Amino acid sequence: MSTLFLRTLRDDPADAEVPSHKLLVRAGYVRRAAPGVYSWLPLGLRVLRAVEQVVREEMNAIGAQEILLPALLPREPYETTNRWTEYGDNLFRLKDRKGSDMVLGPTHEELFTQLVKGEYSSYKDLPVILYQVQTKYRDEERPRAGILRGREFVMKDSYSFDLDDNGLETAYGLHREAYRRIFDRLGVKYVIVAATSGAMGGSASEEFLAESAVGEDTFVRCVESGYAANVEAVVTPAPEPIPFDDAPAAQVYDTENTPTIATLVDWANDALDREVTAADTLKNVLVKIHLPGGEPEIVGIGVPGDREVDMKRLEASVEPASVDLLTEEDFAANPFLVKGYVGPNALLDNGLRYLVDPRVVVGTRWITGADQPNRHVVDLVVGRDFTPTGTIEAAEVRDGDLSPDGRGVLTAAKGIEIGHIFQLGRKYTDAFEVDVLGENGKPVRLTMGSYGVGVSRLVAVIAEQCHDDKGLRWPREVTPFDVHVVIANKDAAAIDGAEALAAELDTQSLSVVLDDRKASPGVKFKDAELLGVPTTVVVGRGFANGVVEVRDRFTGEAREMPVDGAAAAIAA
Ligand code: ATP
Ligand code: MG
Ligand code: MG
Ligand code: MG
Repeated sequence: MSTLFLRTLRDDPADAEVPSHKLLVRAGYVRRAAPGVYSWLPLGLRVLRAVEQVVREEMNAIGAQEILLPALLPREPYETTNRWTEYGDNLFRLKDRKGSDMVLGPTHEELFTQLVKGEYSSYKDLPVILYQVQTKYRDEERPRAGILRGREFVMKDSYSFDLDDNGLETAYGLHREAYRRIFDRLGVKYVIVAATSGAMGGSASEEFLAESAVGEDTFVRCVESGYAANVEAVVTPAPEPIPFDDAPAAQVYDTENTPTIATLVDWANDALDREVTAADTLKNVLVKIHLPGGEPEIVGIGVPGDREVDMKRLEASVEPASVDLLTEEDFAANPFLVKGYVGPNALLDNGLRYLVDPRVVVGTRWITGADQPNRHVVDLVVGRDFTPTGTIEAAEVRDGDLSPDGRGVLTAAKGIEIGHIFQLGRKYTDAFEVDVLGENGKPVRLTMGSYGVGVSRLVAVIAEQCHDDKGLRWPREVTPFDVHVVIANKDAAAIDGAEALAAELDTQSLSVVLDDRKASPGVKFKDAELLGVPTTVVVGRGFANGVVEVRDRFTGEAREMPVDGAAAAIAA
């Protein structure tokens, strides 16, 4: 460390908000060159290379072949797919000296497609998966959190080419498994969620989101069913509005007065032809609201438990006489009742615009008007055979909403996108007319997938998930060094001993950073914690008695061991 190109900082950088950004800068892993543009210093580069290594190993293991395309690209291919326009301000554009437009590649579907078109001509050439680990450029509107969202960043992007849908599904499946292995090896906590395909176009797509409070993506998941999706993608097929009055098997109960709970229970039992039981949970209740005098436009489902707020709104929006319909006890006692659905505002605010598989439908019409006394009409429909339809709009999904598969309740959390896999289909091969000669002599249009991993982003993500208030804590697979040896004893014998120990660790195939600086032990210990190497060996006072101290950065545990055999023990 006395010669290492490393200067740690005592204070957090002024522009840093998230822990990984603060720590990676303070610990001297990266330095800012411009907004969203960072230099990699020795320790940072070692982590970046370690992440790349894991990614390469797992890509190679599924038979993908590494190539490297340029980052400086001509305009024309992006014009062909219309992404020259679609990418908008996110694309870094420049002109060469002759005035030709060029771009700095944000992602490389176009170039890989052209490449395969140029090289391959027969069905015998397929399938193929090609990949690169390359610097990408996107003029992000809000570069953020250091290398987490850069304008220059390292991505692993791969592209599969197949003759048919089965082939594409296989390639997609291979990537999905490879990504799981990559993120598992890197020790990242992540979820796989349904995703929209965004600027890539195409159909099936999933994201790998690292769980993190500082993430910019929100996802929802349902513990009961395993459903998980980016909120951007919580979309099931568009709803078929069912005219309220055409509702099959509807029994309409009309009452001048607000029905009592007892009446509703009677009606439900009557319609179900059996006792209402606890199994008729609120999840299974579908509500249709008739707006005053209008078409039945709003449809909602009941979700247990979290509608207290709406009770207040409800009280404000309906005549006091009808409020006693909906008390907490009533809801507890009557599972088919739904909170908060009488007032259209409450419903809209809840954003519950989707249907689930209901067995019971309770509708409440709130009718007002000059010639009409205020009154409720309660409609009860039983046994209806719905399949899930409808949409939940992104901003409207929230904790406690029902899963679109109807099998449980959603919980929402934040995540950072670390990988994205797409079945693109023929969007790009159509644009570039990529055909090969098929087995039967006819041309076959290739089908394509594209798959990205945020390699440099992962360095920040791991730092984000693995740190404490003292500094970084690298998992073994990506740590810049395996062992950090601290010389905390000025005796020449101890210094020699530390160097010998470092050499011995080296022969055990462990990489070592040796803190041989002329600094106090306190400063060295603080830096060791900040840098985050998983194992620290302190050659201190105990060395005179042939003892060193071994500290575990993850558990904080420290234990003494004889210096003889220490290297082998640490390697074990
Ligand atoms: P995000 O939603 O975070 O903007 P994206 O959906 O635009 O990402 P993709 O086009 O799917 O990103 O690119 C593949 C991967 O590249 C992403 O999953 C992410 O890990 C990484 N990535 C994308 N943009 C950046 C960036 N600005 N800085 C670092 N990594 C990025
Ligand atoms: Mg993006
Ligand atoms: Mg995204
Ligand atoms: Mg993406």
